Amino acid sequence: MAMLEVKNLSVSYGAIEAVKDVSFEVNEGEVVTLIGANGAGKTSILRTISGLVRPSSGSISYLGNEIQKVPARKIVADGLAQVPEGRHVFPGLTVMENLEMGAFLNKNKEENKANLKKIFARFPRLEERKNQDAATLSGGEQQMLAMGRALMSKPKLLLLDEPSMGLAPIFIQEIFDIVQDIQKQGTTVLLIEQNANKALSIADRGYVLETGKIVLSGTGQELLASEEVRKAYLGG
Ligand code: ATP
Repeated sequence: MAMLEVKNLSVSYGAIEAVKDVSFEVNEGEVVTLIGANGAGKTSILRTISGLVRPSSGSISYLGNEIQKVPARKIVADGLAQVPEGRHVFPGLTVMENLEMGAFLNKNKEENKANLKKIFARFPRLEERKNQDAATLSGGEQQMLAMGRALMSKPKLLLLDEPSMGLAPIFIQEIFDIVQDIQKQGTTVLLIEQNANKALSIADRGYVLETGKIVLSGTGQELLASEEVRKAYLGG
C-alpha cells in the first residue's frame, strides 16, 4: 500500500479547472517530485493534500485513510507537514520561537528538545541565529527555517513547495542536499519544483504536470534522460 495515493483528483477555482484527473502515489521512504511550469497546478495539488483546498472530485488516501474531507489540523496531527511556497516564517518571532511553533502539537518537552538538537545539527546556521528575528534572515536561511519548523512536528510525510525558488545557486544545492538528508533520516518527501534538473536528480520517481494534467512519469533518472523533459524543462 502506498503511503499517499491520489486518485483522479480534480481541483477547480470557479470556472478554472486547475487540476484535471490527476493520479499518482508516494511510497514510504521515497522522494517523489512533481515538476511543471508556472501555473501547471502543482501548488493546488499540495494544498489539496494538506486539506487547505477541497477537490471537486477524486480521492486522497494517506496511510490507508481517505483524507479529502478531513480538517487540515487533523492531517498535520497525523504526520503530514507542508512547507509552503515563499516560506512564510513568522516575522517578529525569533528563529527559536519559529521552530517551537512547529512543535505546538507535541506536549512532550523532552522529545521536542531532542528533536531541536537534531534540527540544529542539520541546520547549524539556524542555531547560530537562534535569537535573531526570523524576518532578518536571508532567503536561503528562511527556507531552512521553514523546513526546520516543519521537521519539528516529526512528520512522516513532508510536502515541499518549490524550496529552491528565488534562492542563490549556493543555497539551491544546499537545499537539495538537505532534502536527501531528510529522506535518509526516514521521512518521505513529496517535492514540487520548477527546477526540474535538480529535483529529478535526487528523486526516486517523478511526474510531469502540464496545465493540470500528468503527461509523463518515471524514475528520476528516466525522466532526466527523456527527450520530452529535456526539451521542455532542461533547455534542450
Ligand atoms: P506556480 O509554480 O506558479 O505556483 P503551480 O504549478 O503551483 O504554479 P497553481 O498555483 O496550482 O500552479 O495554479 C494552477 C492554476 O490555478 C493557475 O492557472 C492559477 O492561476 C489557478 N489558481 C490557483 N489558485 C487560484 C485561486 N485561489 N483562485 C483562482 N485561480 C487559482
